[in-house]
Amino acid sequence: MGRLRRARTGESMKVPLLDLKAQHESIRHEVEQAIRRVVDSQAFTLGPEVEALEKTLADYCQCRYAVGVSSGTDALLCSLMALEIGPGDEVILPTFTFFATAGVVARLGARPVFVDIEADTYNIDPARVESAVTAHTKAIIPVHLFGQCADMDALLAIARSRSIPVVEDAAQAIGAEYQGRRAGSMGQLGCLSFYPTKNLGGFGDGGMIVANDAELAARCRSLRVHGFRTDEPYYHDRVGGCFRLDALQAAVLRVKLNHLETWTQARRRNARRYDELFARLAVACPVVRPGNRMIYNQYVVRVPNRDRVRTALTAAGVGTNIYYPLSLHLQPCFAHLGYKSGDFPVAERATQEVLALPVYPELTVTQQRRVAEALGDALSG
Ligand SMILES: *Cc1c(COP(=O)(O)O)cnc(C)c1O
Repeated sequence: MGRLRRARTGESMKVPLLDLKAQHESIRHEVEQAIRRVVDSQAFTLGPEVEALEKTLADYCQCRYAVGVSSGTDALLCSLMALEIGPGDEVILPTFTFFATAGVVARLGARPVFVDIEADTYNIDPARVESAVTAHTKAIIPVHLFGQCADMDALLAIARSRSIPVVEDAAQAIGAEYQGRRAGSMGQLGCLSFYPTKNLGGFGDGGMIVANDAELAARCRSLRVHGFRTDEPYYHDRVGGCFRLDALQAAVLRVKLNHLETWTQARRRNARRYDELFARLAVACPVVRPGNRMIYNQYVVRVPNRDRVRTALTAAGVGTNIYYPLSLHLQPCFAHLGYKSGDFPVAERATQEVLALPVYPELTVTQQRRVAEALGDALSG
């Protein structure tokens, strides 16, 4: 590394994949006040903080009801429990997603039925959902991966014609839109996650179920506290779980929700900048379908020699990650389902080529230029 290279955009500049400290700095005072309010109240689970968050978030997601729960995973689990999914049932979902989408199905004794994805959006391919439906199909879970909604019109048409409920896994897609409709509002139930790396992240785990169906929302509300009867605690019509959302999380999330639109716009601006900066590089940038508002929980590119490129970026101080390195149908824990390598070629190829780059709201232009430079070097090196 001679003098020439040092003269370029901050050779020593580090660009992490996500910088939560930068975000916290901008809201520290508001958050500390909210936390103090909860500490002073000594009311720690559910209660007014959670109710207030539920109300604002239902509006934000264009839904009538919202039920705060302990995580995105528990939002999915509780949703499937509300739909009474169990042994002998099948649930259709993409093979290229975070583990939880399939894990909850297996935990209820039902069978995850995997489907391949679209090569450009990485979302479930509706054309392949059709042929995966059987008499045992009890739900379809489209995942709005990386912050872009799946092809919901096609999926809802298949589901409606056979009266199969749709549970949207919107963990990565809060505020994303499909033809003007918000993620989570299109199926029977929508599941959100407040895991710290999500666009609306708490100070730990948290999640939310959104719905327009009063009966299903009421069932979720009961299931999150062991299946209590709403009017009579300690009487149980069904077996629920301990899926409560903490008041501390809700208070922090209420503060952050006020900033979410600004942060989402910053992510979208950063994505546009990358699209321009990478125009001459041999990478495939994210493809957003017409009518979709993508919220870029991740900015994922496809690159040849992905692992070599990632090593070079790490050495250059650029944080990256691989979402996801192994499709779910090839996970050892699902070996008994009988899938094999080659069953879902589009997803399997994606696992070899995808690379997530930093796109968080506080990212600066200089940092983005640095990423582009390091990526250019990595591709030509
Ligand atoms: C994060 C995530 C989940 C799980 O959410 P947690 O809050 O971490 O339990 C589920 N599905 C997808 C697609 C996710 O990205």
